[in-house]
Amino acid sequence: MSARAGIVYLVGAGPGDPGLMTARSLALIAAADAVFYDRLIPPGALAGAREDAELVYVGKQPGVPSVAQEEIGARLVEAAQAGRSVVRLKGGDPFVFGRGGEEGEALRAAGVEFEVVPGVTAGVAASAYAGIPVTHRDDASAVAFVTGHEDPEKPETALDWDALARFPGTLVFYMGVKRLDENAAALVAGGRDPEEPAAAIERGTWPGQRTVLATLGTLAAAVEREAIKAPALIVVGAVAARRRELAWFERRPLHGRRVVVTRARAQASGLAATLRELGAEVVELPAIRIEPRIDTDEVKKAAAAIGVYELVCLTSPNGVRLLFEAIVAAGLDARALAGATVAAIGPGTARALAERGVLADVVPERFVAEALVEALADVDVKGARVLVARAAEARDVLPDALRERGAEVDVVALYETVREEPTPDAVEAAQSADYVTFTSSSTVRNLTDALGERFPSAAHIVSIGPVTSEAVREAGLAVNVEAERHDIDGLVAALITDATRT
Ligand code: SAH
Repeated sequence: MSARAGIVYLVGAGPGDPGLMTARSLALIAAADAVFYDRLIPPGALAGAREDAELVYVGKQPGVPSVAQEEIGARLVEAAQAGRSVVRLKGGDPFVFGRGGEEGEALRAAGVEFEVVPGVTAGVAASAYAGIPVTHRDDASAVAFVTGHEDPEKPETALDWDALARFPGTLVFYMGVKRLDENAAALVAGGRDPEEPAAAIERGTWPGQRTVLATLGTLAAAVEREAIKAPALIVVGAVAARRRELAWFERRPLHGRRVVVTRARAQASGLAATLRELGAEVVELPAIRIEPRIDTDEVKKAAAAIGVYELVCLTSPNGVRLLFEAIVAAGLDARALAGATVAAIGPGTARALAERGVLADVVPERFVAEALVEALADVDVKGARVLVARAAEARDVLPDALRERGAEVDVVALYETVREEPTPDAVEAAQSADYVTFTSSSTVRNLTDALGERFPSAAHIVSIGPVTSEAVREAGLAVNVEAERHDIDGLVAALITDATRT
């Protein structure tokens, strides 16, 4: 899709969960020349923007001087009149307490064309994620969206609290935390039952979502006690109590847990996505980076002569990727492996091979070098030419064992794992982590070196297997959980078991 030049799109970004952004919002963000965005947009909302797009923050933050509303309008007009396609990205829905109406009026007044892209509004989404249906056949046939933040000095917009109290249905208050006490009192004074169920939902649809359920009469005290802060939504109505049955988001196994992922950025996404799907808030703190070393003489030589090896052993998906790059650079392809027995250390490595048209002959059940040695027990390697293609800093268990059995082993280093310096933001976010996951000994060493005193010592440490656990202990830390299966799924399973226990 393309965005039209000279047009401003007033786009809703939804309440925070990136998965609730509409297809049209993502398409417009990807196409726009400029995006003017607010504070409360989902993480990664702008990830799909064009590299040359202008991204302008125009959000309002409590207590911080911000861009005035008139100025936002003026800048949108200016950008559109310069012939650009402009996305104005707002939290939730642009026309629900989003001042989208005012911006549309300013654009129309200046003769600038605009379109509106509705978003999932917090009143519906945060309620749904808290297990509260805003309408229900038995409880509520109507729902009202109300601002809880009316300026009492502004009589012309004053809410009719008596009328609201009589409203026959659910009341959903936006911006309602600060004046909750007064607003609840006004509803009760207007005749609303103080025993009516009421809930407050903080950061609805975000990984840290919290909900308190009380009654209209007790909610303000409960909110104070639990220190519920904006952005939060207040729901008043019998439907709020349905949450006792219908809550689901906060029941996911890792909800409310902050988990540090230390894998190299290129590998982290699968694990991070799985953890997020289980409810965790993921902090990506890559400790290592893969530096390819495929232009060394030893790798070039091995790749050019790949056909002579009777057994080729691969110990990681990165190894597979880089060996194939080296093979291609040598002017060969997968057929060069036709005569060889191919061994993969685990299913991830086997998958990487399969993607390149090679089905591994040997894959051990446990994914450590010792297990690969065992799995190769039936392969006659006496006098055979063997290639072990792996990382520079790997252990020598495999080549040593094969040599002992009479093989002629060439070991080539396809890549080096080097330390990645963590960003200050990620280090800060990691301080309150509940878990730190380690998927290799190099991640342990590099992260503990990089963080030093700032390692989150209260977090539980989850290790993928015995070799990684040993590195954790060598770093002076304790392993809380070790995966039974030494792969990513095994690591996640171990983490869930621990989280449900504690
Ligand atoms: N246009 C937005 C609302 C903006 S007003 C929408 O349609 O959702 C800002 C208020 O919205 C906040 O004070 C809070 O009451 C509510 N809000 C926004 N995001 C929220 C979230 N993730 N959880 C709970 N309330 C939220």
